Amino acid sequence: MINSVVIVGGGTAGWMTASYLKAAFADRIQVTLVESARVSKIGVGEATFSTVRHFFDFLGLDEADWLPKAAGGYKLGIRFENWSKPGEHFYHPFERLRVVDGFSLADWWLELGDRRQPFDRDCFITTALCDNKRSPRMMDGSLFASGLDGTLGKSTLAEQRNQFPYAYHFDADAVAQYLAGYSTERGVRHIVDDVTAVEQDERGWISTVRTAEHGDLTGDLFIDCTGFRGMLINQAMGAKFESFADVLPNNRAVALRVPREDATEMDPYTSAIAMNAGWRWNIPLFRRNGTGYVYSDEYISPDEAEAELRAALGPAADGQDANHIRMRIGRNDRAWIGNCVAIGLSYAFVEPLESTGIFFIQNSIEQLVKHFPDSSWDPKLTSDYNTRMHRVVEGVKEFLVLHYKGAQREDTAYWKEAKDRKTPDALLERLAIASSHLLDEETIYPHYHGFEQYSWNAMSLGLGIIPETARPAVKHLDPANARREFAKVKAEGEAMVAALPSVYEYLASIND
Ligand code: FAD
Repeated sequence: MINSVVIVGGGTAGWMTASYLKAAFADRIQVTLVESARVSKIGVGEATFSTVRHFFDFLGLDEADWLPKAAGGYKLGIRFENWSKPGEHFYHPFERLRVVDGFSLADWWLELGDRRQPFDRDCFITTALCDNKRSPRMMDGSLFASGLDGTLGKSTLAEQRNQFPYAYHFDADAVAQYLAGYSTERGVRHIVDDVTAVEQDERGWISTVRTAEHGDLTGDLFIDCTGFRGMLINQAMGAKFESFADVLPNNRAVALRVPREDATEMDPYTSAIAMNAGWRWNIPLFRRNGTGYVYSDEYISPDEAEAELRAALGPAADGQDANHIRMRIGRNDRAWIGNCVAIGLSYAFVEPLESTGIFFIQNSIEQLVKHFPDSSWDPKLTSDYNTRMHRVVEGVKEFLVLHYKGAQREDTAYWKEAKDRKTPDALLERLAIASSHLLDEETIYPHYHGFEQYSWNAMSLGLGIIPETARPAVKHLDPANARREFAKVKAEGEAMVAALPSVYEYLASIND
């Protein structure tokens, strides 16, 4: 039996893993988590995917309890600003495209829509909620989209059927702390100490991790949650890091926490705003905004990036310390080697665009539980796990490269060169299809990677990869039903805007 697990690292990855293992296996597994008080956590990671609710529901946690403790807010989607033309924006919402007579509303929009206007306003109701800063919940707590509320229980990403309409913004350190409380209450042994060495047996498997003050920690399975340094997986087990710099050049970020001048002016979305050499995020938490500029240091220096970010933020950021972060973009050749599994930044990171870090962690933990070994250490479990981890990261990589290939900006060297940078071959094929007709489940990246057809369509059409004509077949169809559906989307959006409170108003009621 494999019944003792040692987790090294107490960032979001470490505590999500500890709490999930306890929720899954309870006392059948002993879990020890050791974290350094000296090595700080990354301290960013504040936006999530809508599917993160599977994680919280699995743990049996109630949003109304944990969200206020994490200073959290709602995220209905991502608002992309200035990616094509200055002053333009479009949304990538958490909303699937409706289908009319066998064709998605986006297919119909290509035939019937006004191409001078962004397509998202006609095809999604979430865009109206975002523009009007609405909460996805009524004051009585009910969700605007009926039939989706209620707990999912112990379900996983693989069982996702419906598109839930929102994700969260939260203070990642506060969530890690909350999950630490959850974990230790359920028996996780928590040690605050530095791991100074990793001892390996004759096979090269980890036998113990040595700590500065708590002696040697032994276990069956060791989980590396040490962040970009990959202390166990890279330094001890020799995993090879494969950089994505050839296709995703952003390698640095500068982050700032900014008080909101008017607390009530809270957005229910993440913003991704194009800048001279990258883009900046704005993530509204209940009492402040998290912001940061993600850039490539081939084009600007950290000082120039900070100055450009501060200029964009104005006086609100005065006096706030900037956190400069070097990012390791890419993934290890393997996430699991011998008795060591890497989860979080120690395994992979593809830059913060589309907020995939916590999603990767959630997916890794769920799959680790599904592939949990016994003392035979069946290599098929390990290799299947590694294949899945590899695929999910590769799919997200392709999706992110699409953002830079599709962007129409050409006003700085960074954006001009974005078009000439290397493109994964499979993505080249998808881009060719997207400029002829919309991608579908058969033509997007073919393995699970967290993004569906609607996301690929929302990004291609939003950025400006727009087929010249609708699919020829649409011209042979009666457009009456599609016109009715466009009118319904508009009317439903307006009705929701009128009925729902502002996101701040609702959150204030649960933060009392
Ligand atoms: P870390 O937070 O770096 O934690 C590492 C832990 O290891 C720490 O506890 C440290 O003390 C410990 N440690 C290290 N060495 C030792 C040692 N020798 N002994 C003991 N302990 C040790 N993700 C999202 O989902 N959404 C976002 O919006 C988002 N934005 C991001 C923005 C930026 C700029 C970056 C860089 C990342 C972002 N991410 C985002 C990713 C997200 O931050 C991470 O996936 C998440 O925080 C997990 O980090 P981690 O736990 O792997 O590593």
